[in-house]
Amino acid sequence: MTAVEMDNVRDGERLVPWVERQDASLIYIGRIHTPWTDLSDCPRQGRLDGPLCRIEVFEPWTLALSGITVGQQAEVLYWLHLSRRDLVQQCPRNDGNARGTFSIRSPIRPNPIGTTVVKVESIEGNVLTVRGMDCLDGTPLIDLKPDLAQFVPLAKEKPGDRQVG
Ligand code: SAM
Repeated sequence: MTAVEMDNVRDGERLVPWVERQDASLIYIGRIHTPWTDLSDCPRQGRLDGPLCRIEVFEPWTLALSGITVGQQAEVLYWLHLSRRDLVQQCPRNDGNARGTFSIRSPIRPNPIGTTVVKVESIEGNVLTVRGMDCLDGTPLIDLKPDLAQFVPLAKEKPGDRQVG
């Protein structure tokens, strides 16, 4: 472990050697503009009554915004690009009590994907203005989906949709 890695690991935390293999590739489809320019100022989780933020979608993906309406809730997926990725146990409170990475919503994870539900306040061209974000200004956008809690599937029903037993 290098001195730099040691500096950022808290007592009780565990890291693993970073895997250089790549199993999939992502593209950034836009950028999220928020009021937070310092990680320590970002909320731990977004709130639907939080500040207005802008989700900018890049070409050629802007046509994919059709069907999104003002007032609906959407799920936003983003790449927490400043996160380290190698901790398997973390101490969020820095009190020596370690928790497995997959049992918490820390931004530090092997694939640092953040998700939040936002309310769409306005849509102008390739920009959605929303409330509910919790990420740093400039965070890359990787996907947008309707909020599952409000979503009614458009595709025809499939056998697996029905509850069994
Ligand atoms: N709501 C998302 C989730 O549950 O998947 C993210 C939650 S995570 C606890 C939110 C924190 O991630 C912020 O408070 C900030 O410390 C950190 N963060 C925000 N933007 C980031 C970025 N671009 N890179 C790394 N860390 C970021």
